[in-house]
Amino acid sequence: MIRLAGIEKRFGGNTVLKGVDLTVAPGRVTALIGPSGSGKSTLLRCANLLEMPEAGSLELEGLSLRFDPRSRPAPKDVLAVRRATGMVFQNFQLFPHRTALENVTEGLVTVLRWPQDRAKARAMELLAKVGMAAKADSWPATLSGGQQQRVAIARALAGSPKLLLCDEPTSALDPELAAEVVEVLGALAGEGTTMLMATHDLRLASRMAHHVAFLQDGGIVEEGGPDAIFRAPKDPRTARFVRTLS
Ligand code: ADP
Ligand code: MG
Repeated sequence: MIRLAGIEKRFGGNTVLKGVDLTVAPGRVTALIGPSGSGKSTLLRCANLLEMPEAGSLELEGLSLRFDPRSRPAPKDVLAVRRATGMVFQNFQLFPHRTALENVTEGLVTVLRWPQDRAKARAMELLAKVGMAAKADSWPATLSGGQQQRVAIARALAGSPKLLLCDEPTSALDPELAAEVVEVLGALAGEGTTMLMATHDLRLASRMAHHVAFLQDGGIVEEGGPDAIFRAPKDPRTARFVRTLS
């Protein structure tokens, strides 16, 4: 489980997260929805400490970190959070000069110090899982966006993270390619992968999410089950936003 509490993040004078509380239950998919600029990506980046919050706390896997600009968390705790999370980005962000297989083995070999053959076996297993085993030796540039994103999902899963963070995983894709990615993420959700996913894709969120949180102006306005949020939102701001989704 991951529990974020009172998370604040500023960029210069701009306070982007204003005390966000969010709990992600184990084995469940939590969708984070909200307008552009509401702070979704920043919140995901705070959850794996790609961004360091100014205030609040993070609990994950028995770790408990408090944020304070005057005392940064210990590097070993930052590393532990990074290892407990995997991130899937909107624009895939595969290493362009590595094959699909090497993209998946890279972190296992360089960060986790796995031997090459063990990393390769693990990577092949994950590429098979996302339907990309046949493209193991392909360069990212030769793959479709949907294929690249499936490799990126395999890469994010390589270290067996406790939490998979997905930042609008389908929004750079045409509907048909997005469907492949929805399929793969849906299968992972079915296996009980814990996910926190920012998305504008109503189909993705309503198919997969067990819990939906609506973020606006750096704060959670409303959260609940997908039916409650998509069909019967209580807050007028949620209702207005949900009407813009398709
Ligand atoms: P969303 O993902 O919901 O569209 P973001 O988290 O990307 O929102 O951005 C929230 C706000 O934070 C925006 O106003 C954005 O300009 C600002 N922001 C995000 N990252 C940075 C950064 N690295 N430096 C300065 N401002 C940033
Ligand atoms: Mg974003």
